[in-house]
Amino acid sequence: MEDLMFHSLKELELQQSDYSTYITSLKEIYADMDRKYIEAVAYYIMDCTGCLDSCCLTRFYHHTIIEYLYLLEGFNSLAIDKRTEIRQRAVEVCEKTVDSEGKGTPIRIMCPLNIDGLCTIYEYRPMICRMHGIPHELRKPGCSPVKSPGCNTFLKIFEEKDYYPFDRTSFYLNMAQLEKRLRQSIGIVEKFKMTVAEMLL
Ligand code: SF4
Repeated sequence: MEDLMFHSLKELELQQSDYSTYITSLKEIYADMDRKYIEAVAYYIMDCTGCLDSCCLTRFYHHTIIEYLYLLEGFNSLAIDKRTEIRQRAVEVCEKTVDSEGKGTPIRIMCPLNIDGLCTIYEYRPMICRMHGIPHELRKPGCSPVKSPGCNTFLKIFEEKDYYPFDRTSFYLNMAQLEKRLRQSIGIVEKFKMTVAEMLL
């Protein structure tokens, strides 16, 4: 797939004021999911601090231009030497990933934005980084809810605990609607699918 890459709002023909409006909506969606996630974590009495199976080792793909732009905003707010270091890490992540794919051996490799166990752009992190780890469900109209388990570490610790309802449906729907509005305004129809490392190159 050919990557969809932008480096500036100008390239996207997106006015700063329109961008700010979209980002305000994105922050509201993030705030909703953060609230619900905190409730669930409080129920399980779960603490990810020091987890050796960090979800930042997982190769997530991200699919929205709006989250890409916001992540880059976070990245660009970092000091220049930090950005240089992270870009170098992103290059290494991409190279090692291509290499492992060539050998047919899957690898788990740390996200280039994670330094010393902490996300350097925490406030700007994408949706999946905000909701990963706990059991959840998705509801499609006319279908039974599809439930998914938590991460491996969650399963080991909380296997016996009753499920705390965590429905991702409205978050996905709201995100899809926001993305649709943005895409319509800038006239982009191509699919977007990138890891964080790819976004940073
Ligand atoms: S963006 Fe941040 S939270 Fe998400 S995987 Fe990278 S370091 Fe982890």
